Amino acid sequence: MDYGLKGKTAVVTGAGGVICGVMSKELAKQGVKVALLDILEENARKVADEITAAGGEAIALKADVLDPKSLEEACSKVVEAFGGVDFLINGAGGNKRQATTSPEMDFFHLEADAIRWVFDLNVTGAILTTQAFGKELVKKGKGCVINIASMAGYLPLTNTVAYSAAKAAVANFTKWMAVHFNLNYSKEIRVNAIAPGFLLTEQNRYLLTNPDGSSTPRGEKVIAKTPMGRYGKPEELCGALMWLLSDDASFVTGAVIPVDGGFSAYWGV
Ligand code: NAD
Repeated sequence: MDYGLKGKTAVVTGAGGVICGVMSKELAKQGVKVALLDILEENARKVADEITAAGGEAIALKADVLDPKSLEEACSKVVEAFGGVDFLINGAGGNKRQATTSPEMDFFHLEADAIRWVFDLNVTGAILTTQAFGKELVKKGKGCVINIASMAGYLPLTNTVAYSAAKAAVANFTKWMAVHFNLNYSKEIRVNAIAPGFLLTEQNRYLLTNPDGSSTPRGEKVIAKTPMGRYGKPEELCGALMWLLSDDASFVTGAVIPVDGGFSAYWGV
């Protein structure tokens, strides 16, 4: 499908990861020039190499979403390479075992540093990155920011105390930023979020599957509460992404779109 995005430039953070790697490749297929940012530059480079080998345009840059200087440097390089920024995908995020309750780790012993790490990566990272690259959208007077929220932000999931609160804050920030751009800078800058349901990726595999690949009790509960009865695939987030970036979504801002196999629509009864 052609979403009319050809020739635009997208900055994707966490682009060396599972979801944002897939999103970057799909953007490139649509003719978007993609700047792949990740704290692990080699992972972003692998995806960028795949894109260029397939005939797309991509650059890989090392950037830490918690370091404004590193983001400013990356922004200068993107502008130098592609001439500006149309889209920002704030994909860097994740959880940490040490900020997650479990039979081995009760709530009262969770480490402060781990809790702060999860909040910072998911929330502060999205805010700092939007500061760095949002200026480029303001220069153009139009553009889109997409944040990656989570089901954990609608109602908290058990165990993931910091991650659930952080993703709720990501959804809140999405709305705040949408309003702020429109009221202060341009009526044509839109900010939305995608809230993925459960995908089986490296960050949650230890919670959903046992070392032998069988489902944990938590994994079984997730599938039972997903009316579609399965985990999603990262590719299944791309339709919502392309639509939100396209002119078909020209009146959509401040929205958090669930892509979850019905998880958020179902109480389980
Ligand atoms: P992932 O771990 O595969 O990718 C995350 C990427 O972010 C990694 O490449 C990592 O190196 C990078 N990163 C970490 N810290 C960084 C920093 N300080 N600066 C720059 N980059 C940094 O995870 P994923 O499953 O692809 O998740 C991507 C996003 O989707 C995250 O925000 C995650 O919370 C969210 N999400 C995932 C799921 C899921 O089921 N996997 C569900 C809902 C939401």
